[in-house]
Amino acid sequence: MNKSQSVDLYAPLQKYFGYSHFRDAQEEIILNVLAKKDTLVIMPTGGGKSLCFQIPALLMDGVCIVISPLIALMKDQVDGLRANGVEANYFNSSQDYAVQNTILNQVYNKELKLLYVAPESLSQLSNILNENLISSIAVDEAHCISSWGHDFRPSYHQLGFLKKALPNTPIIALTATADKATRQDIANQLSISHAPQFVSSFDRKNIELDVRPGQDRMKQIIQFIEANREESGIIYCLSRKTTEEVATKLKAQSFLTEAYHAGLSFEQRNSVQEGFIYDRIKIICATVAFGMGIDKSNVRFVIHYNMPKNIEGYYQEIGRAGRDGLASKAILFHSYADVIQLKKFTEGAENEEVQLAKLERMQQFSEASSCRRKILLSYFGEMLSENCGNCDICTHPPKFFDGTILAQKVLSTIHRVEEKEAIGGIIDVLRGARNAHVLENGLDQIKTYGIGKDVSWIHWQQYIIQMINQGLAELAFHKKNALELTPLSHEVLFQSKKVELTRAVDRVSAAKKESKAANAENEGLAQRKSKGGVFEHLRAFRAELAKEKGMPAYLVFNDVSLREMEANMPQTESEFLAITGVGKHKMELYGALFLAEIAKFSVKKAGSTSNTAMQSLEMFRQGLSVQEIAAQRELKESTILAHLQKAYLEGEEVDLHQFVSEEEMKRVLEAKEKLDPATATLKSYFEYFKEEISYENIRICLMLIDGVKR
Ligand code: ADP
Ligand code: ZN
Repeated sequence: MNKSQSVDLYAPLQKYFGYSHFRDAQEEIILNVLAKKDTLVIMPTGGGKSLCFQIPALLMDGVCIVISPLIALMKDQVDGLRANGVEANYFNSSQDYAVQNTILNQVYNKELKLLYVAPESLSQLSNILNENLISSIAVDEAHCISSWGHDFRPSYHQLGFLKKALPNTPIIALTATADKATRQDIANQLSISHAPQFVSSFDRKNIELDVRPGQDRMKQIIQFIEANREESGIIYCLSRKTTEEVATKLKAQSFLTEAYHAGLSFEQRNSVQEGFIYDRIKIICATVAFGMGIDKSNVRFVIHYNMPKNIEGYYQEIGRAGRDGLASKAILFHSYADVIQLKKFTEGAENEEVQLAKLERMQQFSEASSCRRKILLSYFGEMLSENCGNCDICTHPPKFFDGTILAQKVLSTIHRVEEKEAIGGIIDVLRGARNAHVLENGLDQIKTYGIGKDVSWIHWQQYIIQMINQGLAELAFHKKNALELTPLSHEVLFQSKKVELTRAVDRVSAAKKESKAANAENEGLAQRKSKGGVFEHLRAFRAELAKEKGMPAYLVFNDVSLREMEANMPQTESEFLAITGVGKHKMELYGALFLAEIAKFSVKKAGSTSNTAMQSLEMFRQGLSVQEIAAQRELKESTILAHLQKAYLEGEEVDLHQFVSEEEMKRVLEAKEKLDPATATLKSYFEYFKEEISYENIRICLMLIDGVKR
């Protein structure tokens, strides 16, 4: 932490956003912008890019112009800022002349800290593109400027003029693009080629990675969302048709679901998007057209119904889960059918080879038997030294067994059908099936017919896929996916080479055997289970409040804040202010309301609260400072202060005088004479002092004066 800087970055962080720490490189980036230096920020989706330009905007004179590609989402971004008490607005072609004029006047009068603008509307802003009015320029989703990136937008192309028009105004370009060539292209095109590049870790630890074979995926999905019914999620599908089908099946189970794809009208898409943001729709079945710029912080899961075509896309899509940092889940279903489909898409493409290579990496990831996160991060050039502990491989390491005999049965069958059968035909022979295909082709005459009856169809399929992955057999895509032998197959068949396979798993039926509750336990997201229902209660209360105000629930408070309220059970305004995500503005708007809701539960928790308070007091008595206690206990300083006050009120000896000055004591005493004691709240004092004395200190002074809890 670097609180000794001449500008206090923590004050706006706490006041507007209710956060007490910066993440990774945020602080360094912000200092760079404040020093008026151009900056390139590379952070994964959900990494926290917005604060990198929002905090400087709050601290600098004039307005920060934020260039953002999606008009439909500007309003949400601005609403989010306003919910925190930040003066922000947006400017785009959907507004009429009068509204646009009002906004320009706001800029002239320096009433705005941030103005979101679509690139195509910049030309209308020439009158305000002036260094006296503009503090900085943020180019969000900056990869859109590069035709090498995956989402080139022609309207971004003209942004190079900004540096020439405003040479002394810092430009901060932000993107989640990992590839070096695209990054440099962004910098060059914005004429900030020497700007330092801040590349953050791409690790999103809170997202649990789970990769499963695609059989029975619909059942598995239903089972999963059943166990997480209250949560929001996205299901990505390869085709428009699949999005519709999946949505229809989920609707039939009464899940709040809609499909989203480019075939819908602009209005339909907007309405689905909005329904999702406002929690009227919990689950979106979408093609990759959905998601960019969606700020919704409480997306708890992202499911890939089909395999994505490359790791970049996969990572960006799963990154939409858990932006609030809470436990979230990414489930990927993969199947050979998807691979075949994706290969077809690349046929004849301009860069077919590159695309195929990327698809292959994706496939290797899906079929890996070592830590998934290690593989992902290494793809982005980052090396994890330890296994992550939060992926399916880490939590259920595959168990290998001697599969030589199984493999020999398969290979010998492939040999005997003269390498003409696809996976299905081979399994039919092994299991002695009597269907039309078998009979018409005389497959029941094959010598190995029926030698694999003891293994289920689905398990054979998993074993054969494993064998393909090990190079023991090959799929001939151009011969109707017939299975062919390889040199390795011959070693197994004729030179008694051993084959290791991992036990096939049967997720759906395995889960069925367990009770429904245990099942929910299995599928429920880690750490999601709430103590005593406080979280659920607050969530319902939040939904009601949001509805009343016509705003998305997560803009009232996000899930992190609600979880922390449940854990800490704040009882006073200052305890409430200590909750992550509670800034001054939200404190004033919702503090009393939420405190009242929490109070309904607090009797139950009183014991544990005072225990933790006593622990802080003990450490305080041993001579540790509030800061040191906070660091050791991994709590906020304000929480420790609240503990000490609590102990004081319970009659413990605590020297609270050291936290306030004599001057403050004097002023509070004076104010106390002036304000009506019957109605005066902390806020009345706060306003009486024109915000010069903090809530915290006012409270301590009052406590010292009359020992009364406020
Ligand atoms: P992105 O990099 O995708 O633009 P955002 O800026 O939307 O990410 O941030 C993702 C989430 O993380 C938001 O909910 C944001 O409020 C939260 N966040 C960002 N910085 C911090 C921080 N320093 N402390 C706590 N939460 C943070
Ligand atoms: Zn792992």
